[in-house]
Amino acid sequence: MWGMIATWRMALEGIVQASDALRQGATSARAVVDAVAEVEDFPFYKSVGYGGLPNEQGEVELDAAFMDGDTLAFGAVGNLIDIANPVRVAHALSRQRFNSLLVGAGAREWALSEGFAAKTMLTERATQHYRKRCRETIDRGLSPYDGHDTVGMIGLDKHGSMSVATSTSGLFMKRRGRLGDSPVIGSGFYCDSQIGAATATGVGEDLMKGCVSYEIVRRMENGMSPQRAADSVVLELEDKLMARFGRVGDLSVVCMNRDGEFGAATNIKTFSFVVAHEHLPPTVYLAERRDGQTCYTPADEQWMSDYAARIRAPIGEPHYD
Ligand code: ASP
Repeated sequence: MWGMIATWRMALEGIVQASDALRQGATSARAVVDAVAEVEDFPFYKSVGYGGLPNEQGEVELDAAFMDGDTLAFGAVGNLIDIANPVRVAHALSRQRFNSLLVGAGAREWALSEGFAAKTMLTERATQHYRKRCRETIDRGLSPYDGHDTVGMIGLDKHGSMSVATSTSGLFMKRRGRLGDSPVIGSGFYCDSQIGAATATGVGEDLMKGCVSYEIVRRMENGMSPQRAADSVVLELEDKLMARFGRVGDLSVVCMNRDGEFGAATNIKTFSFVVAHEHLPPTVYLAERRDGQTCYTPADEQWMSDYAARIRAPIGEPHYD
C-alpha cells in the first residue's frame, strides 16, 4: 500500500506527480518533499513559498518542516527569508544530529552555506495584497491576521515508511519573528512509521495549545481510527479553548495511518484536502463538520474551476464588511 494526504486544494498538482513516483517505488521522503516544493514554487498560492504573503514589515518570512517516520528525525526552519525552497532546507536539517530547528538569520546562513539558492520570495502580487491590507487596516482598524493556510503533506511508501512535511508563510501581517505551529514538532506535524502521521493548518497559536499532531498519532497508536482521532482532537481542543479561553481560531487537520487509512477534521465552514492511494487517484475533498463529525465529499468541477479563477483574480479595492 502507498498513499498521500495533504491539507488544502493547493496540494493537488504536487500530489499528482508525487503519487506517480510512489507508485513506481519512490520513498515517502522524496514524495512529500518534492510535492511540497511544487506548492512553494507556484506563485498564485499566497500562503506558501514564492508568492507567500508578508509580515507587518512587508517581508516574507517562511516556516517549513520535515519528519522521517522511520527514525523520528526531523528538521525545521522558521522565519527564513529569501531562500527558494524552505522544505528542502528542513529536509536537509533532518539529517543533522544537532541544530534540527533553525530560525531567522541563522537558518538563512546555514541554507546558503549548504548551497541552497537565494531567491526573492516577495512577488508583485503579494505586495499588492500587502498594500491593500495596510489601507484596510489603517482605515477601519481591521484585524490583520487572517489570510493564511499551510500545506501539510503526509506520504506512505510501498516499503512501509512514512514522512510528513509542512510549508507556510504563516499568518498574513504577523509580527516579525512570529512562529506558528508549522515548524513545531508535535503541533504542526508528527510522523511515526509504526503508527501513522498527522499535520495541521489553522491558527498556530491555538493549534499549539493542543499539540494536535502528536495527540492524533498517540490516539491512533491506542487503536482509534484516523477519522475518530482527528475529529476527537479537534472537537476537544475547541471545547476546551471555548470554555477556558473564550474563543478559538481555525483548526483543521489531516492524518493517515500505516495502513493508508486516512482522516480529516475541521472547525471551519469548508476545508479542502487532497488524498491519493493505491486504489484512489488524486482527489480533492471538501470537508465540513456535521453533528460533531467531519463529513467530506469530492469537490465538483464547478468548485474546481471557481477555485482556479479565484486564485488568479485581480486583487481589487479594499473591502470593508
Ligand atoms: N498554522 C499556520 C500558522 O499559524 C497558518 C495556517 O496553517 O493557516 O502559521
